[in-house]
Amino acid sequence: MRIIIIGGVAAGTKAAAKAHRVDPNNEIILYQDEAEVSYSACGLPYVISGVIDDERKVVIRQPEDFAKEGIQVFIRHRVTHIDTARRQLTVKNLITHVDAVVDYDRLILATGACPIVPNVEGITLEGVLTLRNISDLTRFKTVLTTFLPKQAVIIGAGYIGLELAEAFHELAIKITIVEKAARILPKFDAEMAQLVHDHLLENQVKLVLGDGLAKLHGENGKVTAIETESGKMIPADLVVIAIGVKPNVELAKAAGIELGSTGAIAVDSRMETRIPGVFVAGDCCETVNRVTGMPIWMPLGDIANLQGRVAGENVAGGNAHFPGVFGTAIFKTFNLTVAITGLSEQAAQESGFEPVSIVMKGSDRARYYPGRQEFTLKLIADRRDGRLLGAQVIGCGTVDKMVDIAATALLGKLTCADLENADLAYSPPFSPVLSPVIVAAGILN
Ligand code: FAD
Repeated sequence: MRIIIIGGVAAGTKAAAKAHRVDPNNEIILYQDEAEVSYSACGLPYVISGVIDDERKVVIRQPEDFAKEGIQVFIRHRVTHIDTARRQLTVKNLITHVDAVVDYDRLILATGACPIVPNVEGITLEGVLTLRNISDLTRFKTVLTTFLPKQAVIIGAGYIGLELAEAFHELAIKITIVEKAARILPKFDAEMAQLVHDHLLENQVKLVLGDGLAKLHGENGKVTAIETESGKMIPADLVVIAIGVKPNVELAKAAGIELGSTGAIAVDSRMETRIPGVFVAGDCCETVNRVTGMPIWMPLGDIANLQGRVAGENVAGGNAHFPGVFGTAIFKTFNLTVAITGLSEQAAQESGFEPVSIVMKGSDRARYYPGRQEFTLKLIADRRDGRLLGAQVIGCGTVDKMVDIAATALLGKLTCADLENADLAYSPPFSPVLSPVIVAAGILN
């Protein structure tokens, strides 16, 4: 059987490796339009800041590594058309510009997502960048080393914008963040997002909220300032557009593959589309929110890997299922770790739950133990049955551990009463005697 995979970053390469493990007798071909395959986009902000000293470290595997396993990877090859009736696709060699028509038995689309770029005046000026892939990283490095920027404007206060704010601070570049919404981090409840807002101000980041990008001004082809919708001029020799991403669905749409209500490709729990033999994984497809049961689009690297594994198993004849997500996510900006799982209180209300919540300070070691760090924890539960609905944790120390405990509790559909009596690991260097999650659940119960 010939299996073809379109897209070779997280979901596509994971699917290829899994399909090969399930049945090494299949012919597996992966087409990737970029020059690189199998890299970690998540590591890119840290290459820019210099925390990761060599960009090659974020490229995990080369086409030769896949070839050793019998997986054929063609870089700089773009699939331009899929004929699902004939089970054929057209692929363009981006170097020779020659098209080839190739037969397949089964297909996986792992075409990912790309940054949303507003169509405003000046958007093509030098020094205006997005960050998604290795080519973008190369452009960043050129701008940083040749223009030596002093003032950056980041359009968008999502996690990529905030990770980049820290990176630019490390490079002694002044930062203004322009965000169209009235506050940063809309997935978090307002009082939690405010903690990050305050931390950014403490680190000399200027915030312009409730205002969008109207146009970019430049001289000699290089950006010099941005103008906001309210007419504010902000000088800038580096502008990053970080207003979000959209799923790459054009190829699927043209092939008659159905999209879901979120605009990403619709799949069943086997990661199969409504066209038998055509599977999808990663940022180009939607999934299910496991708290609400509703469709959700959650473009994250861990999810792309999990889905790639399921699609890879099934394309090779297996019967694995992907149950959906809780939207667990974490990032770091300056000295704060910012994490969320499940629903915010606002989202819980909007989804028809009756949320109750607690916001409290917690710490990651016994009160008397050196090196103790603090964070703020918010737990949200349903008043009717005590079931945990979500958690947000912001601060220093083991924020990741708190959010992962909460995510696991969501997985088990635990109530606050269940969590209150969980015997989690305790010793003074690792935790207070009762984990802050246990304490918060006890208060909510
Ligand atoms: P993509 O990474 O988008 O890869 C799809 C590939 O397919 C692309 O190379 C694309 O060019 C190629 N392609 C598309 N169409 C075709 C075609 N027709 N023919 C051939 N090739 C095609 N996630 C986290 O969970 N945690 C993080 O900390 C995190 N940090 C991030 C930081 C940054 C700066 C960025 C940009 C992303 C981050 N992410 C993070 C998100 C994560 O990187 C993505 O969720 C992940 O890369 C998705 O993988 P994917 O394979 O689905 O799609």
